[in-house]
This record gives sequence, structure tokens and C-alpha cells, in this order.
Amino acid sequence: MFMHAGKPMRGVAQPTREAVAGLPQLRISRHPIVAHKLTILRDMTTPSAAFRHALTDLTVCLAYEALAEMVATPTRVRTPLEETDGTILGERFAIVPILRAGLGMVDGFLTLFPSLQVWHLGLYRDETSLQPVTYYNRLPRLATVDTCFVLDPMLATGGSAVQTIAILKEWGARSISYVGVIAAPYGVERLAKAHPDVSMYVGALDRELNEDGYIVPGLGDAGDRLYHTGNDLSNSENAE
Ligand code: URA
Repeated sequence: MFMHAGKPMRGVAQPTREAVAGLPQLRISRHPIVAHKLTILRDMTTPSAAFRHALTDLTVCLAYEALAEMVATPTRVRTPLEETDGTILGERFAIVPILRAGLGMVDGFLTLFPSLQVWHLGLYRDETSLQPVTYYNRLPRLATVDTCFVLDPMLATGGSAVQTIAILKEWGARSISYVGVIAAPYGVERLAKAHPDVSMYVGALDRELNEDGYIVPGLGDAGDRLYHTGNDLSNSENAE
């Protein structure tokens, strides 16, 4: 089904961009504001404060697209002049940021829906095996929402997203979408195979993973760029 004509990562074949771009689960934003904000995020000289700001703006746009298919429930509303038809989002939904980089996308969703439920899951990627390790889980025992949006800026090997979605399904979430900034073909293919029912909303589909599991061209380590903890050029500036 998939063509693995891309460069191998650690000996593992990678699909090409073209091989996954047409998957029905994958929605790549075509909005110029997304492209503009993404360019700010990719720029290695963007300082952390500006990076956080651009990520929030970009997430608002991605949330707008990801929420487009939610069920709208008719209601009545009274304007200052008369009563008229209105609409509310009838589904109970939550966002599930994968710590730590997913935290950078929370404010974008909260800007649109300030009373959203936010459930935290902590997974880190073991840098040797590239496998996700769960170290924090604050989901309540029973599911309290119908729909969950899993937030993680980078869909690289896809391990964290696949594991998070498995945890949410076991928890009882009925509908799950993934929202991210940049995806690699490898992660897209892995997520689509593991959870074919999950839609992926992303700002861009990049070329491949490098030997360290980073997306290229990508934007570097999203957590480090957000929280000023890396050694990249932007982090040499203290005064922002
Ligand atoms: N995580 C990141 O932050 N960046 C990548 O390129 C891959 C995984």
C-alpha cells in the first residue's frame, strides 16, 4: 500500500512525502496564515518568546480547521433586538497535550474555548530506542468527553501519538483527532496504520526523519525552542 522509496532512518525504510500526502486521514492546511506562522517557527533565529507566540497563533488556525467537522447543535439566542436561531458545539471535547512540547499548543485552543477540559499525558522519547515512555497520566478513571484532540507539534516517528491514542481509546474516548505543526511521512504512515479512524490536522508535511529521528527540514526540537532549553542560535540571546 505504501511506497518506501525514501531515505532509510537507522536502517528502517521511510515512505516518501508523495506516498502519504493523499491519505484520507491527513489534512494539511493550505491557509496562508499557517504558512506564514510556520516560517517564523522554522527560522532558527526566532527567539523563544516569539516562537511561543507564533505557535499559539498557528494553533488557533489549526484548531479552527480541526473543529470544522464537529457537530453543531441548534439553539435559540436573544439579541438586544429579538430572539433568533443560534448554534452551539454540542459535543463534549477535550485537548490532550503530550508533554512537554504539546503544552505550547494549549493556549491556541483555549483562546477559542476558554473552558475546555485539558488532560495531561507525559511521554518522552527515549533517545536511544526512539520509543515513547509514559511518565505522567492525569486522565480520570472514566472518560468525561466524547472527542479528544491530541496535541503534539511534531509527528516524527509517531510513537508518542500512537501510544497516547491507544491510552485514550482504552479510557473510552469515542472520537480522537491529532493536531500538530509538522509531520514526517514516517509518522503519518505509522499513525494511519495503527489508528486508521484518527484524522491528522497538520501545518506541513516535511521530507523525512534524519538519523536522530528529527524531522527535516523541520524546526529543530520543539520543546527546546519553546522553553529556551536548547543550544540553538536563538537561545544564545537572553534579552528578548
Ligand atoms: N521532536 C521535535 O521536537 N522535533 C523533531 O524534529 C522531532 C521530534
